[in-house]
Amino acid sequence: MPQPATTTPTTESRDEVTRAWELCYLDPLAARDIGRRLAAGGGSIAVHGWLQVALAEVRIGDAAVATTALAHARLGYAAQEDTAGLALCDEVHAILLRRSGDPESSARLQLATDERGTLGTDPMSRFIAHNSRAITAKQLGRVDESLHHFYAASEAANATGWAGPRITALGNLGGYHQELHNLEDARQLCEQALRLAREAGARPMVATSAANLIVIHHAAGEPEQARAMAEFMIRHPEELMPNAREQHALYLALGHLSVGEIDAAEGFLPSSDVGNRADGDSMTCWAWLKARCRLARGDAAGAHDVAENALQERQRRQLRDRDYDLMELHRVAADACEALGDAAAALDRLRQAHSLYEQLVGRSARARLLSLQVSHQLAQAQRERDLADDRRRSAEDDRRRLSELNTALHAQIAQTEMLHARLREQALRDPLTGLHNRRYLFEIAPGMLELARRQDTQLCVVLIDLDHFKLLNDTYGHQAGDLVLQRFSALLTRMLRRSDVICRHGGEEFVAVMPDISADGAEAMLDRLLQAFQMQREEYGARRLPHVSFSAGIARFPRHGNTLEQLLSRADRALYTAKNHGRARIEQAPRTGYGTLI
Ligand code: GH3
Ligand code: MG
Ligand code: MG
Repeated sequence: MPQPATTTPTTESRDEVTRAWELCYLDPLAARDIGRRLAAGGGSIAVHGWLQVALAEVRIGDAAVATTALAHARLGYAAQEDTAGLALCDEVHAILLRRSGDPESSARLQLATDERGTLGTDPMSRFIAHNSRAITAKQLGRVDESLHHFYAASEAANATGWAGPRITALGNLGGYHQELHNLEDARQLCEQALRLAREAGARPMVATSAANLIVIHHAAGEPEQARAMAEFMIRHPEELMPNAREQHALYLALGHLSVGEIDAAEGFLPSSDVGNRADGDSMTCWAWLKARCRLARGDAAGAHDVAENALQERQRRQLRDRDYDLMELHRVAADACEALGDAAAALDRLRQAHSLYEQLVGRSARARLLSLQVSHQLAQAQRERDLADDRRRSAEDDRRRLSELNTALHAQIAQTEMLHARLREQALRDPLTGLHNRRYLFEIAPGMLELARRQDTQLCVVLIDLDHFKLLNDTYGHQAGDLVLQRFSALLTRMLRRSDVICRHGGEEFVAVMPDISADGAEAMLDRLLQAFQMQREEYGARRLPHVSFSAGIARFPRHGNTLEQLLSRADRALYTAKNHGRARIEQAPRTGYGTLI
């Protein structure tokens, strides 16, 4: 970090400068206080005080105060001919530009700083620069560049040895993975950031991580956990920044909305009309939350107005949104259109929501970049190890280096494997219910059928479809429907055997592949499942949802087919019969019939 070049300051005030740096990402208010004291004290050290004030104000306070403080700092560093200090002023200026809604200018300024190459090489300067570039690139939609800088910021943060930058780096990385819909990594990083932030009293990151966790839990189909996280933020204002409740109001609303607490959710939603909202993210998020609340109150026309206005407004102002919020906005618009009887418009919105969802899932594969980076480091470490290997016999020093590199290599191999496993897992699970998806089913089934064939054992394929589910959605709302899907999935997982493969086939349809069971055995098991499911009634906010049933069709291998497709087709026909015979029942595919010719 820049040090004064002219008059010799006391050791005490030098310690104060270090202390301010240490605190600036941990407790910006405290760092700002130190900055103000140093600035007021005058002398050559005051310039560092101004910089601290500027950094704190631009991040948590008043942009106008930040601008003034920055001008003082710049003058001071210019007088001292401190180029590293001036470069840091540019970094703070870039944050200021970004905060004022101009990421393009921010990026240009950062590029110019890089070209001059005057930024200090100390870990803190590197951390500030990478962290800020990551956020600017994120706002400009440059995913790869942003991830690259977030990881570099983490590395620099660790090198500072200070908790503040480390927690900030973890939390920011977690937040970005959340935006990329890479929920597993996001959850781990945010939980770690929240834990460390609470331990260290890093108030800005306590609120940010908790808010991100609300979205993560909501998106992962864990409404109670989303609600609990909102509750934590409300109950512990002392752990947050003074304005955290206002700043994160939308997240608090989401936490309540997740569990159907509409009054509480609306209490957190500012009533301002969408046109007054400055940035796309919060406008889109505000609009879908508001529309959901209206819909939950039965005000479909109101919900429709809010959603459609927001869609038009963002189009008109060419706003950038988080895809997740935009998807939710399209979804609620679809539900509102449907409730108003405009099926064509509903379908159109739903299609757009679906295409956004697909983009989102595709993006989560961006997390692959992380694993690629690790693989790259791995190759590098391997090359270095080989080099060291060549010189091994000649120098004691090299031997030590070799063992260090070997350890690093093994750690990296383990990390890469873990990342690959996690990425694979994500691609194969359904985000709402946590069950496996169709892709997984089609990957695993051929092996299961082959095993049954070789061992000459029985195997059943079961197709389950919830009854009158559309009616439930129409009466109680889509979120209530989601809740039932989640609870049913949990029941399936609990009641079927560990060896059964259960997946969400799509919508309200589920498939189970059950090895080592006869068709009668499978039917008995499904009967028990049906009884248990029909007994269960869900609480949704203040309401109780009605009993729900399902119908199921069973096909047996190899009698009804040799491939999963054939078996599913026969199970589907049996399911159709179950529906025709009055629902809430289970049918086995007949012994013979047209289906065998498929
Ligand atoms: P049936 O007894 O004949 O199966 O009638 P149904 O209403 O269950 O069948 P239909 O195929 O007409 O409707 C299925 C409904 O499932 C329509 C759709 O809105 C709803 N659905 C599909 N996926 C989801 C989801 O992820 N969440 C919620 N809440 N509903 C979903
Ligand atoms: Mg269906
Ligand atoms: Mg159905």
